Order: sequence, then structure tokens, then C-alpha cells
Amino acid sequence: MFIPATPEEVRNLGWKQLDVILITGDSYLDSPYVGVSVIGQRLLAAGYRVGIIPQPNIDSKNDIARFGEPGLFWGITGGCIDSLVANRTASGKRRRKDDFTAGGINNRRPDRAAIAYANLIRRYFKETKPLVLGGIEASLRRIAHYDVWSNRVRRSVLIDAKADYLLYGMADNTVLELAARLREGRDVSELRGLCYAAAERKSGFLNLPSWEESAADPAAFEKMFLAFYRNQDPRTAQGLCQKQDTRWLIHNPPAPPLTEAEMDAVHGMNFERAVHPFHRRDGDVRALETIRFSITTHRGCYGECHFCAIAVHGGRQVSSRSEASILGEAKLLASLPGFKGRILDVGGPTANMYGFECQKKLDRGACPDRRCLYPAVCEHLRPDHGRQLALLRKIREIPGIKQAIVASGIRYDLLLADRKRGVPYLREVIRRHVSGQMKVAPEHSEEKVLRCMGKPGTSSLLAFRDLFRKLTAEARKEQFLTYYLIAAHPGCTQADMEALRCFATRELALHPEQVQLFTPVPSTISTLMYHTGRNPWSGRRLFVEKTAAGRELQKKILVAKESGFRYENAGRKSIKREEKSWEKTRTLKKIPRKNLPKR
Ligand code: SF4
Repeated sequence: MFIPATPEEVRNLGWKQLDVILITGDSYLDSPYVGVSVIGQRLLAAGYRVGIIPQPNIDSKNDIARFGEPGLFWGITGGCIDSLVANRTASGKRRRKDDFTAGGINNRRPDRAAIAYANLIRRYFKETKPLVLGGIEASLRRIAHYDVWSNRVRRSVLIDAKADYLLYGMADNTVLELAARLREGRDVSELRGLCYAAAERKSGFLNLPSWEESAADPAAFEKMFLAFYRNQDPRTAQGLCQKQDTRWLIHNPPAPPLTEAEMDAVHGMNFERAVHPFHRRDGDVRALETIRFSITTHRGCYGECHFCAIAVHGGRQVSSRSEASILGEAKLLASLPGFKGRILDVGGPTANMYGFECQKKLDRGACPDRRCLYPAVCEHLRPDHGRQLALLRKIREIPGIKQAIVASGIRYDLLLADRKRGVPYLREVIRRHVSGQMKVAPEHSEEKVLRCMGKPGTSSLLAFRDLFRKLTAEARKEQFLTYYLIAAHPGCTQADMEALRCFATRELALHPEQVQLFTPVPSTISTLMYHTGRNPWSGRRLFVEKTAAGRELQKKILVAKESGFRYENAGRKSIKREEKSWEKTRTLKKIPRKNLPKR
């Protein structure tokens, strides 16, 4: 059943008032891939009366007042992507297309959607039930954060939106506990995965540098962010508090990741896997094409690439579903109208993290001073692709399924570290689970840039490339590797992009046409580097390309048809000079060595 999106649907269910009203910046897609529909369906399954208002018009009362007021709380999310990432490029230009809006035109989601929707509710409902923020936008902006679009350190979105609570991370369980406590009139302030504002700091919680200090001084911001980042493991994290103006942001420790049984329960819910008919007249939602016939096998990622937000949103621990649950979903997909025999993805944030985890992490929490995959795969991880292999084989045997593609990225260093089943896994994926191209994400070739990204060096990439070619030839198939590459990451200069171009041509036999420009998403380590101009682990200063022309130029160096595309085409002769003199022009207060992290 769809979550009701119109008053008629509510009336048809015999409901007089809703308990929870959800507001989202996307069109309403009912799918296990969409956070707001997971949250709504979980609440419905627990017996709450829930309605959803997708993409309300923020200039009128009509949409937001459609259901009246909820009995328990308003739940607000910007959508599946941070609204500024969805709406604008890193240089602030408006994006015209939107995969999460019916019709594909980006004209329905306001910038800073969580704040806009909270203001909209308060405008028409003065003394209303609590406003609860959630989703990726709220999660990544839950403490003071650098925002590239306004080029400043902003307060928590909870404070800016004047909301009552913020649920961060994957809040499947937290939202149920919040709803139960609000219904029973109990205190919610101890809930894990919750932030709220208070008049005083909380005793026993770690006091972060205040928002004012962090905004005024990049060194204080760095110290604040690293303390925040180190306290994200549910087993070891301390609660945090941070003064923001006259109030305190209280950040409770994270909620534990879901167990296998809980993951199965979430994915076993009765999703429609379709766009709500409410949007029918506006056209299709493009995102549905890729997720309708895809399967999530797990959540979380311990890759910790510095530009990625998963570590502070989805967590460093991988939670996998059971084989039975995944096979059940595969059978369900095979029975749906419109299914043409192909599952478009069997994966997660990183495809080959399914089915194993570090026991030490499960027992005592993720190591605060080590990383699971960088600079090399940790000896305690013991990767084992056996469960994935067995799973893929069983999916293939389901009647009606001709192919199940592994479209999510594969971590090649992890695959190579599994000496027993890594090669058999890749052989099988190449033979049966690739649709012509396999995606990998080296992101760059230059050691100093890779260090800034937290990515492995090129030796594992080249070993994987050779293995891929060998197994592809064995399978007598014409298949290729496609490479994700990033330009203008902190630490990357034009010379590095030239070197990447040579590497791509020489070693990968590739002329890249699609290169991503680094976007400083809030609350990532790369964004910290972008803001401070320093590598937080080494304390060394970095070159950071911030000008729009210089960033575009880095990209063009890689994608231009002819090599040598460099300063003469920049339209800005000062770029080269800036790169050379950046060290002199940047000023940053020195952090005492004892405050630097151990990594
Ligand atoms: S022991 Fe290794 S694999 Fe386990 S959490 Fe620590 S760094 Fe990660």
C-alpha cells in the first residue's frame, strides 16, 4: 500500500486524523531505496496513521495544510539527496534536470529544503506538534558544517530550521521509538541517533568547539570536525554538545546498525515499487528506472573514501540481509508486471562488502586510529566473497530471471585481498553478472591525491585490470572496465590532472569522457580539507582549486580531445601562478601537534 498522499486516501482508510505527516523534497516513490518511504512504511506497519506530502509548494497553504495537523509529529526530509547537491552545481549554477522529480524538471525542490519546509509548517501552524528532521540533508548538516554554496560555516540545520528534533543516520528504529515515546508522553532526550537543542550543555558529553569559534577559525573547525568524526561508532561514541549562538546542540550517540533480522524486516515490507499516482499527470520519475528492479543486499561501508558521506550517515559497519530475504525479493521482482528478466543491480554502497564484517568491530567497535581498507586491507577484516557467490548463483536459478547484474561498484583492493574466493567471485561476475561494462572507482592515479582521497594506490588497480582482462578473455566476452575519476579534489593540481591523463591513456587505454568535479558535500573529510586547505592527518597544507575556471580546467585537461590543454585555454592566466604561490597566500593557525589525530 502507498502511504496516503491525498485526503481522499485518508478518508478511504477511515482515518480522521493522521499521527505523523511526512514532508519530502522528492516526488513520492514507494521503494526500499527511498528513505522517506522506508520510514513511512515502518510507521504504518507499527500501526501509526501516516500521510505524506511530496514537494509542497512553499508559497501557499494548499499543500502543507492538506491533512491538517498530525497527532504526534511532522517528519521533514529534503529528499534522497541533499537539496543543494540536487539543485546546484558546486559553483552554484542551478541544475535543470532532476531524477527524483516527476517530469524530470528541477522546479519543485527548494534550496535548503528542510529549513524551507519547517518554515512553511510554522507559518500556517503556530503552536504545532514537534518538527522532526531526518534524511541525508539533516544528517550531514547536524552539527556546524562548511557549506560551499554560501562559503561559510553554518549552524546545525536543527537550529536554523527551528525544529524540535533531528534523527540522523539510518533512523528506521529510532523513528519507531520516537513515535512510541511521543504517544505515551515520555521523554525522548535519551534516544540514540537523536539531536536536539537545549538551554544548557549536557553533563558527560564531549564539548566541541562552538559554532562561533569554528566559523571564525579553520583550525577550530578542524578540531571540531575530527572530534565529531571520531564519535560515530555506536559502540564507542561519546555524546557531543556544541554551543550555537545562545543554545546548545545536543548530539546523542548513534543508534546501533540494524541486525540481519531487522534488515530483512525492512526489506520485506510491502513496497509498491512505483511512483504514487498523485504524480501521474506530471510525468515519469527517472530514478525509478534504475531502482524498481534492483535489490539492496546490505547497508554501510567501511571504505571511508574522504569525499563520501556514508561514514557519517550510513555508518562504517556493514549490515547484510539474509540470503532467504534477498531471494524472496528476487522472486517478487520476477513476478512483477513489466519485469523483463533482468535485475538491474544486486548490491549496496560497495557491491562486494556483502556478507562479512570484522569481528573485532562487531565486538568492540571500529578502530578509532586505523582504517579498514587504507592504506591496505586490514588483516582483521578477512574478506570472504563466498556468501555473495552463493547468493548470485541462487538468484540465477529463480524462474523468470535471465540475468542479475552487479552494477554497484566493486572494491578491487578488497576483492584481491580475498585469496580464496576473490578470483572465483570475479570470474563469475564477469561471466554472468556484467552488462558489458564493470564500474570501478580509482578516482585518480597520483599518490598524493589518492592519499587526500583515502583511496588505495594504482598497484591494486593495475593488478585488477590484468585479472579482469584475463578472465574476460577466458569467458570470450567483449567487456570493459569503466572508471570513476574526480577532478579538482583538494590536493589536486593541473599537473596532477595531466599525469592522470597520461596514466589513463597509457595504462587503462582510456580517453575519459565523463569526469566528476569534486563537490564539497557537507561533513566529509574532503570538504574539511577544501575549507581549511590542510590535510588533517598530516597537518600539511594542500593546494585547493576553488575557482570555477580552475576547476573546469582540471576537468578539461582530462577530457579534452588533444593533450596539452592547459593554461592557454584557461582564460585566466593567473591560475598557474596561483598554484605556485598558494603556500604563501594561505594563512591558517597552527594546530599543536598533540591535537592532531594519530592516523
Ligand atoms: S580491526 Fe581492522 S577491519 Fe576491524 S575495525 Fe579495525 S581497522 Fe577495521
